[in-house]
Amino acid sequence: MFADLQHFQRLVRQLQKVPFLASKNVYRVAVYFLINDKKEVEQFCKVLLDSKENIGFCKVCFNLTEKADLCSFCSSTKRDKSIVCVVETLHDLFAIENCGGYSGVYHVLGGALCPLDGVGPDSLNIEPLLKRLRLGEVKEVIFATNPTPEGEATASYIFSRMKDMQLAISRLASGVPIGSNLGFMDRVTISKALSGRRPY
Ligand SMILES: [Zn+2]
Repeated sequence: MFADLQHFQRLVRQLQKVPFLASKNVYRVAVYFLINDKKEVEQFCKVLLDSKENIGFCKVCFNLTEKADLCSFCSSTKRDKSIVCVVETLHDLFAIENCGGYSGVYHVLGGALCPLDGVGPDSLNIEPLLKRLRLGEVKEVIFATNPTPEGEATASYIFSRMKDMQLAISRLASGVPIGSNLGFMDRVTISKALSGRRPY
């Protein structure tokens, strides 16, 4: 298909590298750029490059940060540094933060364990978490990985590596349906799950 459209094929191949972009949407996105004004496309590219230049990851929790080593949570004096909520992705962090009821800090793993897709412990921010916990400031860890097989396996793995640590450990409980994704849940459900967390 589109054998005579080499530039279009190249555009599609590039878009196919973007994870989470469903294959049928790749063509829609490609056409979107093509029917847009050249100025709009240039602006899009500029914002993308500027973002890459100016946005980084917090050295402690791997949340986003701009022009600073620490993110707004890790550098805030109002957040309780003794409680760490472990999430898979930034999307999950935003979902919990949007509830407004959590005053601790976070740790973003960058995904969940999935050996079949080649995602092992070394692919995630697990070692930095364990190192952080060994420093002694953290007293409680809340596992807020998604209630999927991958999320559960990730929490279990980290839990097994924390056996020698004297920490209060809990897991999000009621309100989070099995197989669901925190990033797509409403505030009330997440608030309930957070307040109703159970010991691990
Ligand atoms: Zn941080």
